[in-house]
Amino acid sequence: MKTSAALLTHPGQPFRIEAVDLDQPQANEVLIRIAAVGVCHSDWHLATGATRHPMPVIPGHEGAGVVEAVGPGADDVKVGDHVALNWAPACGSCFYCLHDRSNLCETYTAPVWAGMMLDGTSRIRWNGQTVYSYCGLAAFSRRTVVPRNSCVVIRKDVPLEVAALVGCAVATGVGAAMFTAGVKSGQSVVVLGCGGVGLSIIQGARLCGASPIIAVDSQTPKIWVAKHFGAQSAILSSDDVLGIVKRHTNGRGADHVFEAVGVPALQEKALDLVRPGGTLTLAGLSPMGTTTNFPSALLTRQEKTIKGSYYGTVHAPRDFPLLLDLYHSGKLNLDDMITRRYRLDQINEAYRDMAEGKLARGVVVME
Ligand SMILES: [Zn+2]
Ligand SMILES: [Zn+2]
Repeated sequence: MKTSAALLTHPGQPFRIEAVDLDQPQANEVLIRIAAVGVCHSDWHLATGATRHPMPVIPGHEGAGVVEAVGPGADDVKVGDHVALNWAPACGSCFYCLHDRSNLCETYTAPVWAGMMLDGTSRIRWNGQTVYSYCGLAAFSRRTVVPRNSCVVIRKDVPLEVAALVGCAVATGVGAAMFTAGVKSGQSVVVLGCGGVGLSIIQGARLCGASPIIAVDSQTPKIWVAKHFGAQSAILSSDDVLGIVKRHTNGRGADHVFEAVGVPALQEKALDLVRPGGTLTLAGLSPMGTTTNFPSALLTRQEKTIKGSYYGTVHAPRDFPLLLDLYHSGKLNLDDMITRRYRLDQINEAYRDMAEGKLARGVVVME
């Protein structure tokens, strides 16, 4: 069938909206009519070339939609089911899956990061050429075929644009606070960076009962937004961040600090804000190959812990529904995370707005 999609053909060039040929789902695959896709930094790294990927590729990995057809073996998913897409599908039987770390599942890493279905082939063509599917999802397309294991069936009484955000920013952020760091009630939290992931960390920390929650960002509008989502204190990064954090934490520094941007210099600065015995959680994805220079002498003497958080340490089939239940019961504010909605043909404008820091989250809504 023909469908229309946003395609990247070369790094450094804008998205182009093209008609592509989409095959029917094969074994253990599902055809989805996409309803909404979040505008996430990781796709932008593809567009700029910071992440190298075979092209042409259809980006979009923060999506939700409705099942239109299922391939053989995928019949535990039904036509008409609502699904949120998981960009790290898990096998359920490898070492990591068996040790409650399905976000680190190694079985499907190779085909998914190669932009293929799990059998190593593609379902999409453009002018006869193979098209790659970012994270095996290619969500910036009106219709797409994805692996069964990338689909998390969700309740039908939540908006699909909200469900889309759960598939990346919200899982990454709320999960970083709840699952990776395991913030406890009464603990102090500092969050560096108040984009979609940072705001989700703030909400996760709030759900864990953290106090105080201190938000830091370089832009004034963003720290005000952070207060809306539960930060008691909001600081501009040009201010005396260390001094203010210490004043809020009896001079010690915070129990938990989260870096939500993925910038090495900020990651190093974040460690200074952690109290002795406290934890720094790195939840922002920095481009591959970047490194930091942490002071090992201090790490030892002050017993600070540094944790990586990949996809919020979530187990998607368990935690996407949990996050949507929290949304439904009014405990997780996802409606206000969406700053602006765009049509698919406005995708370049959406990424421009994101790059300029204008969005908590933008969402492309397919009509
Ligand atoms: Zn993302
Ligand atoms: Zn696995």
